Amino acid sequence: MDRQQEFVLRTLEERDIRFVRLWFTDVLGYLKSVAIAPAELEGAFGEGIGFDGSAIEGFARVYEADMLARPDPSTFQVLPWRSQVPGTARMFCDILMPDGTPSYADPRFVLKRVLGRASDLGFTFYTHPEVEFFLMKNPPAYGQFPEPVDSGGYFDHTPHSASYDFRRDAIMMLENMGISVEFSHHEGAPGQQEIDLRYADALTTADNIMTFRLVMKEVALEHDIYASFMPKPFTEYPGSGMHTHMSLFEGDRNAFYEAGSQFQLSKVGRSFIAGLLHHAAEITAVCNQWVNSYKRLWDAAAATAGAGGEAPAYICWGHNNRSALVRVPMYKPTKDNSSRIEFRSLDSACNPYLAFAVILAAGLKGIEDGYELPPGAEDDVWALTDAERRALGIAPLPQSLDEAIRAMERSEFVAETLGEHVYEFFLRNKRAEWEDYRRQVTPYELNRYLPVL
Ligand code: GLU
Ligand code: MG
Ligand code: MG
Repeated sequence: MDRQQEFVLRTLEERDIRFVRLWFTDVLGYLKSVAIAPAELEGAFGEGIGFDGSAIEGFARVYEADMLARPDPSTFQVLPWRSQVPGTARMFCDILMPDGTPSYADPRFVLKRVLGRASDLGFTFYTHPEVEFFLMKNPPAYGQFPEPVDSGGYFDHTPHSASYDFRRDAIMMLENMGISVEFSHHEGAPGQQEIDLRYADALTTADNIMTFRLVMKEVALEHDIYASFMPKPFTEYPGSGMHTHMSLFEGDRNAFYEAGSQFQLSKVGRSFIAGLLHHAAEITAVCNQWVNSYKRLWDAAAATAGAGGEAPAYICWGHNNRSALVRVPMYKPTKDNSSRIEFRSLDSACNPYLAFAVILAAGLKGIEDGYELPPGAEDDVWALTDAERRALGIAPLPQSLDEAIRAMERSEFVAETLGEHVYEFFLRNKRAEWEDYRRQVTPYELNRYLPVL
């Protein structure tokens, strides 16, 4: 047993923890959990705890259902919302096949594989997400419209409003779990919040995002409200994105930084962006995986009407351009380690492991194959006409889940990055979601057509 494992066992005893939750994530990004007694833990650290993989979305075909979950002791945390004695703790797990090899269906493994490639090239991948979500008065009920908890707007501060008290409690709980928060504020829409997590390596960030979503929902429950990461719950308000800032480090050195170059961006940084743009359409289904995701990305009307949509719809990059898919922020141009790029299409309901995997792989491909960065877009690309955008070589992102699936189906690059198993399962599952959506007759159609047709 190694020192981290011993630390976990000692802590369980000292803090009288009787339940250890083993967490992992299915292919669609849902958190899964199985609780074990502390006595089982030594075995879990050794060969893992067996479970029926066929019960989990995307994990196994029925005839190869046995799988093992092996906890990663570096992710051990006591759960603050179950802090009564006896306590509860959790660890994220790696999923193994019965012979002890990693499961190709485990999103954490998919990300680890790409991180391994980055590390072979000498890079560590850091990410910092700006997570947006809504607080609503009512939990969802079929056919009912949600109601935001407040009528605040961007950066609004109202003492003792539901959102203010919520953010305070939520951030304290995150900090209790070792997740550092950099900023938090009210976002543009009523009830909409943003909480930005501090930079961490991408695997830690992905684990943190999974924890974050659960913590938000737990704290909301305590406040008698409901937290949702649905990308676009309101027709008339902007959706919830998860803009992610990222950089590659070589040891202590930020590989995106080069003094004196345009936006202090190195060749590595430029090729990384070129990779993201080149593969943007193919990876969109993974970054924006729900039918509803495309209502956020295609919110051009809200954007031009000044309603603050600010979600990207076109494949381009820019510096101070909030309509671009990739933005190069320059808050502290003199600090060489703060060079980074912001990828803006991601939404808060993605599977963060798979999304970071395809993003990193696209950037690395740009570096390895020496992709040239096209000129940046300094115009508001929403305000241009289609012909003007075409002349500038700016293509739209996929405009529906259907288009995104088609782009992914044609992509050998995504198949390689996700591995055949996750790739095939994901496409099958998303195709079924699209078909189901397509056949629905919606309230919109009834209201619009019945009175006149
Ligand atoms: N809510 C916007 C989005 O969906 C982002 C607003 C902003 O933080 O710029 O991407
Ligand atoms: Mg925001
Ligand atoms: Mg942003």
